[in-house]
Amino acid sequence: MPELPEVQTIVDDLNKKIIGRRITGVWFDAPKIIKKPKSREFEKQIKGLKIKAVKRLGKNILIYLTDNYLLLIHQKMTGHLLVGRWKIQKIAKTKFKVTNLDKGPLQERVNDYIHLIFYLDNGQQLALSDLRKFAKVLFGSKEEIEKSPDLKKIGPDPLAKIFKESDFIKLISRQKRKIKQVLMEQSVISGIGNIYSDEALFLAKINPFRPANKIAKKELKNLYSAIKNVLKKAIKLRGTSISDFRDTSGKTGSYGEKRLIYRKEGQACSRCQTPIKRVKIGGRSAHFCPHCQKL
Ligand SMILES: [Zn+2]
Repeated sequence: MPELPEVQTIVDDLNKKIIGRRITGVWFDAPKIIKKPKSREFEKQIKGLKIKAVKRLGKNILIYLTDNYLLLIHQKMTGHLLVGRWKIQKIAKTKFKVTNLDKGPLQERVNDYIHLIFYLDNGQQLALSDLRKFAKVLFGSKEEIEKSPDLKKIGPDPLAKIFKESDFIKLISRQKRKIKQVLMEQSVISGIGNIYSDEALFLAKINPFRPANKIAKKELKNLYSAIKNVLKKAIKLRGTSISDFRDTSGKTGSYGEKRLIYRKEGQACSRCQTPIKRVKIGGRSAHFCPHCQKL
């Protein structure tokens, strides 16, 4: 699933590519992606609105529109937003053939699961490619979307300037669950998922199974900087594309090639050469070095 660096990459791209554009139409073939409002109303209401700003909140993409409207997109597992041009042909009552008209990375297979398109007034399109169709789109007045449960329970952003080391320590040390789970809990701290929790815990030499409230203050200080450093580095490298993530041009990010521990089971730890282990924690996998990250 795209995490903070991947979502930030998309948001940065969109700020360069779609600000000031007017939405002239919408096409979609997977109505379940549009959670709000009903399909027909969605099309009618969003047509003609202009894109004012694009922001990130946790892993959510917020597209602010004129007339006080807000479009929320959560890419979930395999969804990613692309900017390009596609041609739609109806081949049966509810079946469509989608053809990309650009040359290059947008034509790669991973970018070829287009289920939603916003037509823009400059001839470009903003599209969602989503193999598993788990992405979520909500549209409505700014107030209505901002107070929806999807946005209300989001914890502080680890890269926000106002999020200090002392805030982090306070937040984490009152949690009783395993630190790996706590880091991935969006209502505690937002934007971190499987990849960057593994990476940050490795950097801070903390075992993923340790209960958060049993971790020493000094270690939490290390973890705080590890999280910030790894997220900043991943943003610079435009995210991790080991799974389906691509930027809005359909290109891969390169953090995956620099990663320290995530999905490196059996390979030697870069610090001590001990083989990296993979374990399950609450249904998710964690990767760690049993020597550097002792229980
Ligand atoms: Zn090690």
